[in-house]
Amino acid sequence: MKRNGNLHVWLLAALVFCATLVVGGLLRGQVEKNHLLESRSVAKNLAHASAHAIEERLGRSLSATYALAAVVAQGNGRVDDFDALCRQLILTFGGISNLQLAPGGVVAAISPLAGNEKAMGHNLLEDNARNKEARLALATHKLTLAGPFELVQGGLAVVGRLPVYLPGKAGAPSFWGFTTALVLIPDLLQSSQLNRLGEQGYRYQLWRIHPDTRQRQIIAGLPGPALEAPVDTTLEVPIGSWTLSVEPVQGWSSPADSAWSLLACVSMAALLALLTHTLLMQPVRLRRQVALRTQELEQANAQLAGEIEERRKAEESQRLAANVFTFAREAISITDAQGTIIDVNAAFSRITGYERAEVLGKNPRMLQSGRQSRAYYQAMWRSLTDSGYWAGEIWNRRKNGEVFAELLTISAVKNAEGVTQNYVALFTDITPMKEQQKQLEHIAHYDALTDLPNRTLLADRLQQAMAQTQRRGQSLAVAYLDLDGFKTVNDTHGHAVGDELLVALAARLMATLREGDTLSRIGGDEFVAILVDLESVSAHETVLLRLLEAASTPVKIKGLSLQVSVSIGLTLYPQDNVSADQLMRHADQAMYIAKQGGKNRYHLFDVIQDSAVKTHREQLAQIRAALHKGEFVLYYQPKVDLQLGRLVGVEALIRWQSPQAGLQLPGAFLPAIENDITAIDLGEWVIAQALHQLSEWHAAGLQISVSVNIGARQLQQANFKHRLARLMHLHLKVDPTYVELEILETSALEDIEQASQAIRDCRALGVRFALDDFGTGYSSLTYLKHLPVEVLKIDSSFVSDMLDDPDDLSIVRGVVSLAEAFGREVIAEGVESVAHGQALRQLGCRMAQGFGIARPMPAAELLAWQLRWDADPGWRALRQEWPVSQAAPL
Ligand code: C2E
Ligand code: CA
Ligand code: CA
Repeated sequence: MKRNGNLHVWLLAALVFCATLVVGGLLRGQVEKNHLLESRSVAKNLAHASAHAIEERLGRSLSATYALAAVVAQGNGRVDDFDALCRQLILTFGGISNLQLAPGGVVAAISPLAGNEKAMGHNLLEDNARNKEARLALATHKLTLAGPFELVQGGLAVVGRLPVYLPGKAGAPSFWGFTTALVLIPDLLQSSQLNRLGEQGYRYQLWRIHPDTRQRQIIAGLPGPALEAPVDTTLEVPIGSWTLSVEPVQGWSSPADSAWSLLACVSMAALLALLTHTLLMQPVRLRRQVALRTQELEQANAQLAGEIEERRKAEESQRLAANVFTFAREAISITDAQGTIIDVNAAFSRITGYERAEVLGKNPRMLQSGRQSRAYYQAMWRSLTDSGYWAGEIWNRRKNGEVFAELLTISAVKNAEGVTQNYVALFTDITPMKEQQKQLEHIAHYDALTDLPNRTLLADRLQQAMAQTQRRGQSLAVAYLDLDGFKTVNDTHGHAVGDELLVALAARLMATLREGDTLSRIGGDEFVAILVDLESVSAHETVLLRLLEAASTPVKIKGLSLQVSVSIGLTLYPQDNVSADQLMRHADQAMYIAKQGGKNRYHLFDVIQDSAVKTHREQLAQIRAALHKGEFVLYYQPKVDLQLGRLVGVEALIRWQSPQAGLQLPGAFLPAIENDITAIDLGEWVIAQALHQLSEWHAAGLQISVSVNIGARQLQQANFKHRLARLMHLHLKVDPTYVELEILETSALEDIEQASQAIRDCRALGVRFALDDFGTGYSSLTYLKHLPVEVLKIDSSFVSDMLDDPDDLSIVRGVVSLAEAFGREVIAEGVESVAHGQALRQLGCRMAQGFGIARPMPAAELLAWQLRWDADPGWRALRQEWPVSQAAPL
């Protein structure tokens, strides 16, 4: 506020200063302008007067030529007593140096002659230097003025020439000659008093523009260049004009004047600004002083108020402390530094039963119950000496001998030097709370009906038991008990009876267990027993039999004889090496099996089977992930016509390119998914992939067929036809007759009717079917009869062994003739050598597939293989041996 006031004053003063400067400057400018105008007007008047005087003097002097001309005219060209006349004329007109007569232009008389003799006889009209004005006069008939010029005898002069005309014959005037007057410039100026300009403080120039040179010719006044800013006045002289320029010697405005007026202006502005500041500062200063005083007063007031408030607070807190001490629900005891009680409050007496007088001068040790160890008290004193504070729970004894729990805090009270003066102990009786807590804990851990440990406590005990078992290198059993027929008791006799039965059974079951074992009720009619310290795996059996017996012995309740039994599932730890949670689950699973097995029995959880199930589940997940990640590939094994030596088709065989395990054959992973939905997803991927590859080969001009293996589940799918149709639709370019589906003869075609319907449906789409591994099934003939397939594939086991095993040879021969009889095509798998090919030739089987021809390969290798195979000498020879008669049309 104060600073702001000051700032305003300074700003205002600065404003006044600037404003004054501006106004002063403007005024000064105006005054100077006026002054200049005035000076110039005075100079102009002076110049005018001088010019006029010159004009008049020159005019008068030149008028002598008229007078002389009049005399010439009177005397008709003759002038008597010329000198006397001239004397008279010079005297009258003044300012004339001499007068001349020049009849016909030739100077004939000069007066006074002395000093001018040279001019006599001078022809004015012919002398080129002088004839200009003379001729002009002749032409205009007027007085002309020549010069000023420098006279031979010295000094500047002007000459006036008047042409004189006399009356001629027939009255026409004829030129007689000139009358001339010579006027000396100094005389002229003298008489016109031009020099007075100088006396009045002006400098001047009388000048004309020279008619020949067109330059300024100074006639009088300051020689040299023109004046700076003169006032000019023009003088009219016969035929021409002169100019008189005038300016003050000091110039039109004096610098001293300017400086003074500027100084005056600035001083004035400063003065005004100072005045403004002084005037305005007066109240600001006053206000500042008032504010200062007010502030001092306020501070003093606040200090006083603070002191009063502090005293009031101190008093109040003293009163409050006294009240707190007296009326607190917490017991308070105060001791001196040695621990001697110096005061206790009413609550102390109420809780401990000791009156104040009974404890003053005693040590609080008198309350000790003996429940706390020495170490406990030592820790308490360490905390008190280290940090001046201790808080915790402690058991003490009342005057009547009762032990009670207190929640106690002890604080050390120190003086300004940090030396402990007193200890203040504050405690509440938390015995009821402790009891309640115990009850709650019991409720939280025990079943309300049977008072057996509940699920929470069981979990706890199981954890402990497992740890202990491991330490001792023993076993424990987790038995899951579920009563059989309890629901019927409940429904028939009501819940009250049911509850009583549960209580009775709980007690009986409990009685069969050894010390250290745990029986827990975990809900309804379900119990779990933990049997610890089993020395051998079979040690649990006796306990189980006792449990079974205890549960099935009739119970008498309200005159009723009630009988139930129990199904027990069991698992052993660490044989079943899993977590507590999983142990319970395994026991539960085993109990379920015991129930299914006819109840009133026990079942031991099968660890090995479980791990197999788990492995299978993991494998399934891996395969599903592999499909998702695109880790499957198709290999293709050629099918050839041995007689023509031609590649006719390929069989698509799946491989798993596993980043961990490398290239996996179908035997390694297909069984795992056999009964899973994944088999269908993978099967469809195979069809789609094979169709795609086929379309590429066809596009490249390789017109072969592709065989795809179809799992039994896949074919039995209700909508297989539609799924296949959709896949075919995605590969419209593929001719369906080039697609063959192989179904396993051995695969459990559960419903042969349904299968044959599915095959018919798919054939309607144009695809062909082959019965794979033909000959290995039990009822090949039945299949052959019912399944509308085009091709029989003789199982590789018969083919590969037929060279050594006559039985297999017979089977192959049988299948070939069977196919012929039923009008089916036939192909031999497992052709491992050319020798096999030769045997097949003899049986009349020309279609073959096998390692001897080619192993399954990636699609890209097919062409290279074909070239190699064409050139193979063994297979070439076989072709040539083939009897032509047996050639069948394709
Ligand atoms: P498969 O349909 O009988 O296929 C022929 C199997 O015999 C192939 O084994 C092939 O490599 C093998 N093999 C071919 N020539 C010879 C030979 O001269 N000697 C011997 N010892 N074996 C030969 P791979 O590829 O391991 O396939 C095994 C089986 O897995 C297949 O038997 C088929 O049932 C199944 N499979 C393969 N791929 C698929 C598929 O994409 N889907 C389904 N559902 N099953 C498939
Ligand atoms: Ca096959
Ligand atoms: Ca096969």
